[in-house]
Amino acid sequence: MSDSVGEELLSFLKELEKRREFATGYPYNLSYDYTPLLNLFNFTLNNLGDPYVESNYAIDSRKYEQEVLDFFANLYKLPDDDSWGYITSCGTEGNLYGIWLGREVYPDGILYSSEDSHYSVAKAARLFRIEHVVVNSQPTGEIEYDHFEEMIQQNSRRPIIINLNIGTTMKGAIDNLDVVLNILKRNQIQDFYIHCDAALSGMMLPFVANAPQVNFTKPISSIAISGHKFIGSPLVCGVVLTRKEFVNKIETSIDYIGSKDTTILGSRNGHAPLFLWYALKKKDYQGLAKEVEFCLENSQYLFNNLQLLNYPCMLNNFSNTVVFKKPPIQLVKKWQLATQGDWAHMVVMQNINRHKIDTFITDLKGFRYLD
Ligand SMILES: *Cc1c(COP(=O)(O)O)cnc(C)c1O
Repeated sequence: MSDSVGEELLSFLKELEKRREFATGYPYNLSYDYTPLLNLFNFTLNNLGDPYVESNYAIDSRKYEQEVLDFFANLYKLPDDDSWGYITSCGTEGNLYGIWLGREVYPDGILYSSEDSHYSVAKAARLFRIEHVVVNSQPTGEIEYDHFEEMIQQNSRRPIIINLNIGTTMKGAIDNLDVVLNILKRNQIQDFYIHCDAALSGMMLPFVANAPQVNFTKPISSIAISGHKFIGSPLVCGVVLTRKEFVNKIETSIDYIGSKDTTILGSRNGHAPLFLWYALKKKDYQGLAKEVEFCLENSQYLFNNLQLLNYPCMLNNFSNTVVFKKPPIQLVKKWQLATQGDWAHMVVMQNINRHKIDTFITDLKGFRYLD
């Protein structure tokens, strides 16, 4: 390796450190230390095939993948004998998986999701050729229940596959599972499959005492959560959980890998489960609950400061996504804010403390006095 390659890498690392300081618009926990895991990168860890069926390729981390899945199954009250899941390559793969299972259970089903749903939901409909009805959203980002009911009544003979948002991408809104279940009940719909997209909030709500609780004691069928969002991981990843009965519908045994083909991808990242496992072990339930509290309090702090400035803003209950009017482009760039139309948001994660929020508010004031 020539010296110039080393120099190039060093300067890239310095640049990344600078950029990380101002990464505030996307829901990634950037505060972690995984240095004890670095030697794992000398191994090609591949959880090829099913997480519960050993492959002939033995350099894997299935043991840790299963422990992570147990943690999530507990968190989401999925009974052991009905529990299945895997560590995905991201939240999107979890959504694709859940919606795919929905279609396998109900080949004639229609997919319903609100207009505030993540773009991966519409992508699932296109990939799997599922008829897709987009339901209106309320200004908060929550699904419009009356419109949902109207739409299902128009297609009353067809089974329902619904994507519920447990924390929307732009506004952090939570669709109310109980209200949706009531609608299904009063319309006497028995054939339904509920997939929950809980990319970010799925690792937050279970730790908040009075937050709405979505779990498998209710008739949900699958849930997807991102791994690199709240938990944080240098390798992007996710978790999907579902009931075993649905997976039995799709599984096939593959002689060549010596495992079952139950996942969307073939080769699967074997490092990601170890990163999640390590973080969950180190933090424990209490540590995670503290981090959730820290993020929610700081979101409220940012929101209060914006209100003091009379700056147009919004914050949903139990959310750490603070939505506000799109500031001048210089600020959008500097703080790497996510924007949609006239709006922007900051997602207050573990790496955003009050000092950082104060600096942002000072920046915002500076621009306000200019115009
Ligand atoms: C981020 C996000 C996703 C997708 O997760 P990726 O890990 O980026 O693929 C899906 N749904 C919601 C609500 C999200 O916020």
